[in-house]
Amino acid sequence: MLGETSAKEKFISTIEKFIALAAVRLSDDVMARLEEMRGREDTPLQKAIYDSYFENLQMARNLNRPCCQDTGLLQFYVKAGTTFPHLDITREVITEAVRRATKSVPLRPNAVNYFDEKNTGDNTGERTPWIDWEIVPASSEMEITLYFSGAGCSLPGQARVFKPSDGLEAIIPFVFNAITGSGINACPPLLVGIGLGHNIENAAVLSKKACVRLLGTKHPHPKGAELEKRITDGLNSLGMGAQGLCGNQAVMGVHIESSARHTATIACAVNVSCYTMRRGIISFKSDLSYELPTYRGASL
Ligand code: SF4
Repeated sequence: MLGETSAKEKFISTIEKFIALAAVRLSDDVMARLEEMRGREDTPLQKAIYDSYFENLQMARNLNRPCCQDTGLLQFYVKAGTTFPHLDITREVITEAVRRATKSVPLRPNAVNYFDEKNTGDNTGERTPWIDWEIVPASSEMEITLYFSGAGCSLPGQARVFKPSDGLEAIIPFVFNAITGSGINACPPLLVGIGLGHNIENAAVLSKKACVRLLGTKHPHPKGAELEKRITDGLNSLGMGAQGLCGNQAVMGVHIESSARHTATIACAVNVSCYTMRRGIISFKSDLSYELPTYRGASL
């Protein structure tokens, strides 16, 4: 049994190392999807872009450096068991791990507090790192999904509330305009996250949860899954290609997360992740032993 101080130190150090892993190496599902996509491109230019992507990703691993210079701001999606014994210190631990990882990895300092207009220098700041909490009843474990939110893939984000008379179909041109507008600058192929909710803020939160969902998963409702496929096929038929330089594919996938809507609203938000989709998962047991389900063979 670890003492309180050594447990806290172990928790911080494990998350710091997990941040380092996720900055350098893409999750297995993302790598597998990029490999599939490389095989489906047939022009020399598209093949060269994918080859440079894979060379960059391999060099990052060889040199143990982040795979993109924009390491973004870090977002944590925490599924917290109600009896996880370190719940009280989790926010403090994550914040300190980000502070240390900014130096040790290193990560580019990106956090600027509004109204100070000064970079804090350590990727922490007002409500930063951003932490989203979900409570898991009767569990003593904690699962943390980490996402590096870069600027290029945050800029295309949009949200809008439609009237029901516009119909659910109204979200399709809205999503296509977002992707063919600034989405093209976000280092395609993209993972597109769509949130459908009852107002702008729950749609926006759901759109990022859609982004961090594992590739290969589908919306649980058959109509939701069908809409994901239709939008994926439609975006891939535009000829956008990797880096927006003409190819057979634009997106790694389209994920939709939804909540019930108000009778009189259809709220939609769209968010994207770039090809260096740095999203990783770590799950802790109550004794702080951990598993890394998205990184086969890795240890910290
Ligand atoms: S869009 Fe992604 S890959 Fe491109 S510069 Fe930004 S973080 Fe890096």
